[in-house]
Amino acid sequence: MSFDTLGLRAELLRAVSDQGYTQPTPIQKKAIPTILQGKDVMAGAQTGTGKTAGFTLPLLQRLSETPLPKGKRPVRCLILAPTRELAAQVGESVEIYGRHLNLRSAVVFGGVKINPQIDKLRRGVDVLVATPGRLLDHVSQKTVDLSRVEILVLDEADRMLDMGFIHDIRKVLALLPDNSQRQNLLFSATFSREIKELAHRLLNQPELIEV
Ligand code: AMP
Repeated sequence: MSFDTLGLRAELLRAVSDQGYTQPTPIQKKAIPTILQGKDVMAGAQTGTGKTAGFTLPLLQRLSETPLPKGKRPVRCLILAPTRELAAQVGESVEIYGRHLNLRSAVVFGGVKINPQIDKLRRGVDVLVATPGRLLDHVSQKTVDLSRVEILVLDEADRMLDMGFIHDIRKVLALLPDNSQRQNLLFSATFSREIKELAHRLLNQPELIEV
């Protein structure tokens, strides 16, 4: 099975073939069509399964399908990740897969100067990849507006909870449009009671994907 049958637009297929990928991985086969339909997803996936492309490709497509809002671009997709390494990696994937589309992205994480991040946010981004703590720093400095988010991704949600980010995540969720107004995607390698509770609160009739 090739990527062509998954419903992705030509610009994204071109980015996939630029990367030398010939076949979608099992999680990509399941996640891409489901996310393209606008459904919420709860996916069990370890690193190395191709999960990043599995959510990035379809969310870029969905963003590219709606007309750009007038004026400064609002953040329309928020991707939360537990560590700066993962955030940077996901941000790089967003850049790579979106290279033939007219979308802008930024990555914000702690441990580095905040000003360059502020400059980038000020110019307007469609996709923001963030660690929870630094995202809340931006919120308190009013350098980011999350009121127009249409797609939320929690990547490695189990690690975020293990690292004690649940309160930060709750604060972020309170700043987003109501969850019935957004598409919500939760990726986790394990499904503890806490993850299930978070999923219950966050997801609307999610499609369960396990590979
Ligand atoms: P991830 O699980 O998202 O961290 O991805 C693991 C690695 O697999 C990354 O280095 C990707 O570049 C690579 N990858 C993702 N999708 C594919 C694919 N369909 N074919 C080959 N490699 C892939």
